[in-house]
Amino acid sequence: MGDTPDAAGALVRAHEHALTWLSSLGDRAVPPSASVAEVVAALGAELPAGPTDPSAVVDLLVNGVEGGLTAMPSGRFFGFVIGGTHPAGMAADWLTSAWDQNAGLRTVTPAATAVEDLAEAWVLDLLGLDAGSAVGFVTGGTMANFTCLAAARGAVLARAGWDVGNDGLVGSPGVRVLVGTERHDSVDLVLRYLGLGAPELVAVDEQGRVDPAAIRRMLGSGDDRPTVVVLQAGNIHSGAFDPFEEAIAAAHEYGAWVHVDGAFGLFAGASPAYRHLLDGYEAADSWATDAHKTLNVPYDCGLAIVRDPAALRAAMSMHGDYLIHDVAGDPFEKVPELSRRARAFTVWAVLRSLGRSGVAALVEGLAGHARAFADGIADIDGAEVLNDVVFTQVCVAFGDDARTRDVVRRMLDDGTAWASGSVWRERAVLRISVSNWSTTNADVERTLNALRAAFTASA
Ligand SMILES: *Cc1c(COP(=O)(O)O)cnc(C)c1O
Repeated sequence: MGDTPDAAGALVRAHEHALTWLSSLGDRAVPPSASVAEVVAALGAELPAGPTDPSAVVDLLVNGVEGGLTAMPSGRFFGFVIGGTHPAGMAADWLTSAWDQNAGLRTVTPAATAVEDLAEAWVLDLLGLDAGSAVGFVTGGTMANFTCLAAARGAVLARAGWDVGNDGLVGSPGVRVLVGTERHDSVDLVLRYLGLGAPELVAVDEQGRVDPAAIRRMLGSGDDRPTVVVLQAGNIHSGAFDPFEEAIAAAHEYGAWVHVDGAFGLFAGASPAYRHLLDGYEAADSWATDAHKTLNVPYDCGLAIVRDPAALRAAMSMHGDYLIHDVAGDPFEKVPELSRRARAFTVWAVLRSLGRSGVAALVEGLAGHARAFADGIADIDGAEVLNDVVFTQVCVAFGDDARTRDVVRRMLDDGTAWASGSVWRERAVLRISVSNWSTTNADVERTLNALRAAFTASA
């Protein structure tokens, strides 16, 4: 080995291994075969005393971790809400690493900025949101919620005459935050980051949608603190969407900022067939979504969308004399980070590859497979779909809680597919979340067969 590592050799090896992995997904069992301890043992725990050639390291890494990889990009992975990776996004992601642009400053990395500007405009167009909104490219849904709610916190306090940037929260009028009882827990987490404490919970209906009359009652209670109302596009159990039109009207009547957590549901807006689920949502003040869920770009990519770019800049921008600021605004002013991966390349690539009709078809394909699951499960005597399957999520009970848990365990042991157990409305459920572009009708059939077998065996 010489002093200069063999970069080309390492990349060629990585490329070969990546293709081998991807081609294994069709038949590979979805769960991993090795435990954490086994992977540690296979890699070896000792830090080597000296250098190893990068190509050799690539081989060592692959050999060490192979058994511990979960086939999350498989078309039969239905756990959590795990998007797949569209090939255009994956290829762009490889190049993003090779190009290694620090995407913070507008004019220092013009390619990254141009692509981010284009991706921003395309996302707003596809989702039917105000073209003047700002989009921050963050790591995921949690950080998108954080970024939007930081803008919200500053804006509602500013309206009450309080400058949180200068004066902090101590002594401020405080901020009320209202959110449905079936919110995603990351909302509570980001409220902790923001020093806002626990939210006030709004009653929801049997699908987990907030009750706009409850919002109106709570806002009319005489508590006149600055207020933020957080709504949801896509409940992780039912897939349900809040009634935006009424809820936003109620919130705005009382001067509240409305934020929509649409980590996987916001892209329903890109499909004419599912757009109605979001009726009225464009009147909100901010929206959070993941590009790494429904849009199927690689991790980690979330989008923080704020109607008033000045509110976002007030929360996120900073000044450094060594930075090269541009009057047109710099990408770092829309996100919590300064140094940052140029993750817009992947968003642009997937949107450029799919086009308007392709994004709609992607969304409709996922929801169509969820529908097929619901229909297939309805035919299993003793199984019950608990939610109205309006989008990509299906919640199933197989008799009582013990039996449902047993079916989940048997299905995971079988390995054909992967889906997570959960508890929804006080019942044990199997959650099926269809989020991967590569899922086929055959994948759904194979998974239904595995579920039928698990159910029969659990009797
Ligand atoms: C996944 C999800 C989040 C969190 O997004 P991450 O990308 O995992 O940080 C927030 N809200 C909802 C509704 C989600 O489904």
